[in-house]
Amino acid sequence: GGGGGGRLAVLGLKPGEAVGRSARELYRDHPQILADLERTLAGEDVTDTLALGDLACEVHYTPLRDKDGQVIGAVGVAADVAERRRTERDLERLARYDPLTGLPNRTLFRDRLDHAVLRSRRAATPCALLLLDLDRFKEVNNTFGHRAGDELLRRVGQTLCEVLRKSDIIARFGGDEFAILLHGADAASATRLARRLRKALERPFAVEEHAVDIAASMGVAAYPEHGEDSEILLRHAEIAMYAAKSAHAGHAVYAPSQDEYSPDRLSLVPQLREAIRTDGLLLHYQPVVRIAEGKPLALEALVRWPHPEQGLIAPARFIPLAERTGLMKPLTDWVLAAALRQCAAWRDAGYAPAVSVNISMRNLLDPEFAGSVAGVLHVHGVEASQLRLEITESVIMADPERAIGTLARLHKLGARIDIDDFGTGYSSLAYLHRFPVDAVKIDRSFVSTMRSDEGSATIVRSIIGLGHDLGLEVIAEGVEDRDTAERLAELGCDALQGYYLMKPAPAAELARWLETVR
Ligand code: C2E
Ligand code: CA
Ligand code: CA
Repeated sequence: GGGGGGRLAVLGLKPGEAVGRSARELYRDHPQILADLERTLAGEDVTDTLALGDLACEVHYTPLRDKDGQVIGAVGVAADVAERRRTERDLERLARYDPLTGLPNRTLFRDRLDHAVLRSRRAATPCALLLLDLDRFKEVNNTFGHRAGDELLRRVGQTLCEVLRKSDIIARFGGDEFAILLHGADAASATRLARRLRKALERPFAVEEHAVDIAASMGVAAYPEHGEDSEILLRHAEIAMYAAKSAHAGHAVYAPSQDEYSPDRLSLVPQLREAIRTDGLLLHYQPVVRIAEGKPLALEALVRWPHPEQGLIAPARFIPLAERTGLMKPLTDWVLAAALRQCAAWRDAGYAPAVSVNISMRNLLDPEFAGSVAGVLHVHGVEASQLRLEITESVIMADPERAIGTLARLHKLGARIDIDDFGTGYSSLAYLHRFPVDAVKIDRSFVSTMRSDEGSATIVRSIIGLGHDLGLEVIAEGVEDRDTAERLAELGCDALQGYYLMKPAPAAELARWLETVR
C-alpha cells in the first residue's frame, strides 16, 4: 500500500494508480510477482528479489489471515536493496579503511601486498615495503591532547599522499604506524623515497595552535631479496624499522643482523631481567692455556641462558639486549659473583685457576663498578690477582678518558686487565699502553684465517711482537686446529684458547680438565 511517491516508485507504480485495484490486476504483466502472491495466498511466507525498472528490491510476502486463520489476503513489503548495498559498502569501508585518515587499514594493505608480491613474482619485477613510525607521537598526545594527536596523524597521512605517487598504496596500521607499498621499487629506490619522506616530515606541523616537530623511523624490505612472501616482508620491514629507531638513523633497509630488534626479541627483556634476578643463568668456562707450561692462565666465564622454551640461548643474542635495556649492571654482577664463587670452590678442591670475566662499556662507565668488584672479591674470599677482566678494544676506544679511570681503579685492586678482540678496533697497541693492561687477546678472525691468509698472519705476527715490546702477554683466541697452535707457538705467542684445546663447558667438566693438567 500507500506512502509517498518514493515508495510507489519502488513498486513500479505512479501516484493514484493503485487506488481501488487489486494486486492481481496491477501486476498482470509481472508473472514473478503473481507467482509469489499465489504462494502467499496458499499460506506460505515468501521472500524474493525483484527487478522493477532499474530498481532492485527484496520483497517479503506474508499471508493475511482472519481471526479463524483463513487466508484472506497477502501483505508484501519491498525494501530497496540499493540502500542495503550502500550500507554493505559502508561497512566494508569501515572494515578496510582507517576512519581517522581515510587511508586503507592493515587488512586492505595486506591484500594489496599479497597481490603485489604475486604480480612481482610473475613479472620478475621488484616491489618494496616501507613501514613508518613516528618518533615522538606519544609526547604530542600527552602534551597537546588526543585531538591534537588525531589531527597530527591526519596531517601526516596527507603529507605522505603528497610525496608519493598515485600508484603507491599508503595505509595506517593503527597508532602512529604507517605502511607504504611501492610497486616496481627495489630497496635502493625505496631508500631514496624514505629520505624524501623524512624531509617532508621534518618541517613543523601546525596542529591546532601549536607548531609540532616530529620525526619518523622507517624500515624497508624489498621483494625478493628480503622475503618471498608478504608475511616475511612485513616482519622484516618491522625489524628494520626498530633497528632504525634504535640507531636514530631515520631509516634502515632490512639486514639479518637486525633480527635482535624484532619485537619477539624485545619480549625477552622482562624474562631476562627475571632470569638474572632468580639465578636462572649459567656459566660455561673455557680455558686459556699458557703454551710454555701447558697450564691454565685463566678459565674464561661465558654466560648462557637456559630458556624454558628456546633452549640454551647464546650471549650474542641477549648481551646486546641487556646493553640497551639497563640490564648490563645486574648481569655483570651476577656473572662476577657466580664466577668468583666457582673460583673459590676450585681453589678449595686443590686447583687454583684464575677466572676471566667479560665486562662491557656500561660497567666501565659506572663509577661504582670498581668498588663493587672489590666487594664481591671480599665476599667470596678470592685474591684480586685471581680475577681477570676482559674488555673489548672498541669499548675502551669509545670513551678512553672515562674508561681509564675505572680501569686504573680495578688494576690498583690487583685485578688483571685483558684487551679482548684485539685488532678489530681503531687503536694502536702503543696507545693502549697508556692504559693499565696486562694482556691482549688477538681477535678470532685473524687467528682462524692466519693459515690461509697472509694478511692475517702478518697481523698476528706484529701483534705478538709489539705486545712483547710493551711488556704485555699475548693470547690467541679461536685456535681450532693443531697447525694454527703450532704456528702461534713458533711466533712466540704466550697463551692459546679455542676449540682445539677445549670448547666452553660447564664447571663440572672443567674440573675433569683441570685434573688432566694439574
Ligand atoms: P668473546 O669474549 O670473544 O668469547 C669467545 C667466544 O668465542 C665464545 O662464544 C666462545 O664460545 C667462542 N669460541 C671459543 N673458542 C672458539 C673457537 O675455537 N672457534 C670459534 N669459532 N669460536 C670459539 P660465546 O660464549 O658465544 O660468547 C660470545 C661473546 O659473548 C663473547 O665473546 C663475549 O663478548 C660475550 N659474552 C659472553 N659471556 C659474557 C658475559 O658474561 N659478560 C659479557 N659482558 N659478555 C659476555
Ligand atoms: Ca672474552
Ligand atoms: Ca674475544
